[in-house]
Amino acid sequence: MNLPLVVLLSVTMLISCTRQYITRDKSETFHNVIVLVPDGCGFAHMTVAHWYKGAPLIQGSMEVSLVRTFSANSAITGSAAAATAFATGHKTWEDSDKAKCLSILPDTLLLPKAQQVSVGNQWRPAATVLEGARLAGKAVGLVATCYMSHATPAAFASHWHSRDDTGIIMEQMVYQGVDVVFGGGLSYLIESDSLIPGSGEKGARRDGEDLYKVLMSRGYEVIMTEDELLRLTSDAEKVWGMFADRHMVHDIDRRLFGPTQPSLAEMTRRAIEILGKDPDGFFLLVEASQVDWASHDNDLVGMVTDYLAFDNAVKVAVDFAKSQPEGRTLVLVFPDHDCGGLAMGDRGIDYYTFRPERMVDVIKRADLTAEGVARKMRTESGGIDTERIKEIIKRHCGISDLTSEELKSIEGTLRDTANGGLNEVIGPILSKRAGIGWTTFGHTGNDVPMFSYGLERSPKVIDNTQIARLCAEKLGFELDEVTDRLFVDARYLFDDAAVTFDTSGVHNSTGQLIVERDGKRAIFPFFKNIMIIENDTVSLEGLTVYSLKADKVFLPEQARRLFDAF
Ligand SMILES: [Zn+2]
Repeated sequence: MNLPLVVLLSVTMLISCTRQYITRDKSETFHNVIVLVPDGCGFAHMTVAHWYKGAPLIQGSMEVSLVRTFSANSAITGSAAAATAFATGHKTWEDSDKAKCLSILPDTLLLPKAQQVSVGNQWRPAATVLEGARLAGKAVGLVATCYMSHATPAAFASHWHSRDDTGIIMEQMVYQGVDVVFGGGLSYLIESDSLIPGSGEKGARRDGEDLYKVLMSRGYEVIMTEDELLRLTSDAEKVWGMFADRHMVHDIDRRLFGPTQPSLAEMTRRAIEILGKDPDGFFLLVEASQVDWASHDNDLVGMVTDYLAFDNAVKVAVDFAKSQPEGRTLVLVFPDHDCGGLAMGDRGIDYYTFRPERMVDVIKRADLTAEGVARKMRTESGGIDTERIKEIIKRHCGISDLTSEELKSIEGTLRDTANGGLNEVIGPILSKRAGIGWTTFGHTGNDVPMFSYGLERSPKVIDNTQIARLCAEKLGFELDEVTDRLFVDARYLFDDAAVTFDTSGVHNSTGQLIVERDGKRAIFPFFKNIMIIENDTVSLEGLTVYSLKADKVFLPEQARRLFDAF
């Protein structure tokens, strides 16, 4: 090979290497990224919310892209698979038989057909934008109105093949080192023999662990009311706000059922204040979790009022971004998937004469969501009769012309089901009068919009996995590199040692990895970020995750160096 060719080749290689890493140039990254998700909605929800608000939604001033949301196994995604996609950059599996993955790769992909999971990556944890941001030295936060082990926040801070195992998920969220966590789920921190602070009920944990105490020992302030949130001092750095035993209530229901719970906008404001003090910047996820639940109920009132509570939170984020120098804070707003199949318009209505007041007035006359009305009926002392049902519907839904079928349907559901069902009866009663239609009580596969503030050029039509990659790129890291750093197969990492797992208690969120070599013995408890060695506890930069489906333990590469050095 002659010299000029060698030089030419070297230059070409250099260019391709440079191009690969070009986005890590500081000038093209953002200091802060705020992601805001109105769970389970689409364009129609936004159109109705816009009419009700009587003014443009905050997102109206932002750039718009279009997002495809399908999961690894269905054209209609579940929330866990959707959140995994925009948290990790990977499609995953979610159905009621095989798995409901949270930031765990599937064994196979039905969609898109062209891609497959390599054997070594099957059921492997995939690093999230939050984990990458934390490793990059940024402060990280999660704000939601569900219990925090629920799909969207959980996908950013935990790894498990089944979204329903709240105990395992909550433990990971506690040991993940998230700086600010605001939402519901206090009962999942407390052990089943102990009382939940401020409540007469027992906790929901079955592993004998008091995660509330763990948080205190790890330097967190744990708060439980809006007052405490407002009273946080300016030196607060690590805070867990648990404002409900399980999920928080819908925004409009707070007055009656959650008077000490803060609004989503207030939680967002406080989270930004705390995280914004980190000189390295921050990543924050905010989720209006219950736009989805109202849509599952086909409940117009709950959907619109929670969407507008979300709109207020978007305003907080965008105002913060605008207060910063240009190019410093990126704000992305997008639903995880559509829900309910809502349309502004319905069979049998005359679209020529459809005035917005028709919808707006129905919503204005109500002062509780369908869930709130159902709760009111079910908690009536001394039972409930026809007259009282009519009274509650009139008072809280503003409806005094209930048909006999509607009344029968409410009475029948109250009588025949202990808990569920009533929301889905009351929701449609309101929607019908507003002239809007729903096609399903489930999700839909419709594309959803993404709104952005701060990008020089907004993407056009993208896949939901590209959102995670965009966030990572704009924060200055590459997600698959973070996965390789945080999730190494223990048998591979400690290939010269005896490696055993104790998985007997894994369903109660216990279990551990044991590594032994030359008389040295280390224990890595599952779902925590610690190594216990010679009576010492050493912190790891990430979690030890047992993947039940792969029967493998994954942990940070760093664990090997710490073990060797000890
Ligand atoms: Zn969802």
